[in-house]
Amino acid sequence: CGIVGYIGSKDAKEILLKGLEKLEYRGYDSAGIAVKNESGVHVFKEKGRIADLRSIVDESVIGHTGIGHTRWATHGVPSKVNAHPHQSASGRFTIVHNGVIENYSFLKKEFLHNIDLKSETDTEVIVQIIEKFVNEGSSTDEAFRKTLSILKGSYALALLDEENDETIFVAKNKSPLLVGLGEDFNVVASDAMAMIQVTDQYVELMDKEIVIVTKDSVTIENLDGEVITREPYTAQIDA
Ligand code: GLU
Repeated sequence: CGIVGYIGSKDAKEILLKGLEKLEYRGYDSAGIAVKNESGVHVFKEKGRIADLRSIVDESVIGHTGIGHTRWATHGVPSKVNAHPHQSASGRFTIVHNGVIENYSFLKKEFLHNIDLKSETDTEVIVQIIEKFVNEGSSTDEAFRKTLSILKGSYALALLDEENDETIFVAKNKSPLLVGLGEDFNVVASDAMAMIQVTDQYVELMDKEIVIVTKDSVTIENLDGEVITREPYTAQIDA
């Protein structure tokens, strides 16, 4: 299983699909991508191989921001509905997740008793709670931070907000996740291998940091909102 993300000036689809193909070695049962453009966030997902996902991606959807996922099911059978990305009730928020949310049934009861969940995954709970906090008045990064502080378990996460044009929100805990730096773009990947064809400059993330990634900037913060500076390293992999 694995995660990729791209934000820049090129069309995200092919970069995401190629990245997912490079993560195939990690094993998966389904895959999906979400691409964001002026008309909204477009989700394509399918059970099976990246080739199956490729065959359902609408070539006419062009977007410069996107996230992708290969799933190794832990909660809910491998299926199209349970494949990632998952979206909030209104469709505003879109998330991909690797890992296991151990307290998801508690969170569901506590926060989402009046929301109809579409999937059987632990992941959907995360994106629904983020939207709930935003509906109650939080900004997206406050809601993201608040949600992370109540999650128990492991996660690598990438989040899109339809109303927050040029940003990918990222966080991890006990699951690997890197941010890759480019000129005029940035990427997110579980493994540098996924994005080595576009950059060899990576920034390592620590558990429970929040990263706000735009096309020209990468801002790492701890849970208290303090900004952290960290130098990138050069990944040594044959492209
Ligand atoms: N627990 C999540 C699910 O079952 C994510 C699994 C993964 O790491 O791919 O959908």
